[in-house]
Amino acid sequence: MTPTPEQSAEWYRLRTTPTNLLTFIDQQRAFLLKQAQRSPPCPHCHTPLSEIDAAPDGWKLEEANTNVQFTCCHCGKPVAFILPLFAGQGWYWFTVAQP
Ligand SMILES: [Zn+2]
Repeated sequence: MTPTPEQSAEWYRLRTTPTNLLTFIDQQRAFLLKQAQRSPPCPHCHTPLSEIDAAPDGWKLEEANTNVQFTCCHCGKPVAFILPLFAGQGWYWFTVAQP
């Protein structure tokens, strides 16, 4: 999903501003944005897929995005992300049963 011009401007600010110049909240938002822009492979077609690209109605930085049905924008199949119990590799996609 392509971000709106306002989202693009805000995301650019969060990505390019040195961390020590961001407020605490903006540091958290920058971290969430960085995580959402990671692109682990889709479990179906193995194409790199970011959380932002997989949110069909637009990924929102201000929301938890927990009720979103993520869909691979390359193969169209539903995916969900999982956070491993132990830190280190970050989140990755897994398949979900198709209705
Ligand atoms: Zn796919």
